Amino acid sequence: MSFSAVTPLLQTLSTSDEVTLMSTTTWTRRHIISLADFTNEEYDTVLRTAASFREVLSRRTKKVPTLQGQVVANLFFEPSTRTRSSFELAAKRLSADTLNFTPGSSSLTKGETILDTAKTYLAMGTDLMVIRHREAGVPQAIATEMDRLDSNVGVLNAGDGQHEHPSQALLDLFTICSALDPDYPSFSLLKGKKVAIVGDILHSRVARSNIWSLTASGAEVHLAGPPTLLPKLFEQYTASRDRPSSSLIPHPSPGKLFLHWDLNPALEDADFVMTLRLQKERMTQNLLPSLREYHQQFGITSDRLKLCKPNVKVLHPGPTNRGVEISSELMDDPKISLIPQQVTSGVAVRMALLYLMGSGKA
Ligand code: ASP
Repeated sequence: MSFSAVTPLLQTLSTSDEVTLMSTTTWTRRHIISLADFTNEEYDTVLRTAASFREVLSRRTKKVPTLQGQVVANLFFEPSTRTRSSFELAAKRLSADTLNFTPGSSSLTKGETILDTAKTYLAMGTDLMVIRHREAGVPQAIATEMDRLDSNVGVLNAGDGQHEHPSQALLDLFTICSALDPDYPSFSLLKGKKVAIVGDILHSRVARSNIWSLTASGAEVHLAGPPTLLPKLFEQYTASRDRPSSSLIPHPSPGKLFLHWDLNPALEDADFVMTLRLQKERMTQNLLPSLREYHQQFGITSDRLKLCKPNVKVLHPGPTNRGVEISSELMDDPKISLIPQQVTSGVAVRMALLYLMGSGKA
């Protein structure tokens, strides 16, 4: 499907003609848990659909009736600002009814299990569940249970432990592709680009999801961090996709993955630099000498960016530790920082994901 095929999608979005709308795109994935087995067609469909919704969000009336009558439940068992608010706004912009779950004031405190909580939301008629949990595997466990019960519910992983955060990586992808071409943010634009991912890779689900999407696009991905936060094990990270015998993942990754325990080689000639938060809540031991020393070695500053391409852009998934992984001045520099664009893209990309997963149920 070419980009021009998006035009009917946009027109139908305002007229709510679901039949024409569905004919513009095909989407067969019921759950989005990981990007490890995403195909290039799926990446492009997400980017195209997000571009359509970005256009909708620029209109005076920012709401479309696409998911009217459907229920989207946000089950966040771990704190979140951006992801939770943008999923909620995305669902509301699509006219879905939203349910928000807060663990502290729920029956979890009375001993109810997570699966029973999910089944309660299923019994209320939930169509889509957006799930965040501090343990890796919880969204998958809920998706498996929903399938076992023969429900039609779609489960979207909004971050599980150190495993994955697919919607964050997809919004990062959309932000990067939009910086390369604002009108046609397609997947192929990233081929041959150098992207540095810097910082606490070990604890980052954002880094893991981004490694899948960026290497699939043909980008060169350079990971940089201290050895305690970037274990050598990451060299093997995409090996499962590259194995020709893998039945799960049909496409070998065209991009390349490099590891650096020093920042400079990762930054040299980079087109994009993604810095990550030090995830102190996941550190079980002292992995760093001091925050000052960490900033000196791996903190991203304007000075250090001189090694990169002249029009380099910087991303951060948030929340940020100003002055630790990124300098305050850089964070606020609109010529270099894409951080506000990431937040804005988050709503359009999450609308696209809810739409793609939910429109088949309409
Ligand atoms: N917000 C992202 C996440 O939930 C990144 C972070 O917390 O540092 O993984």
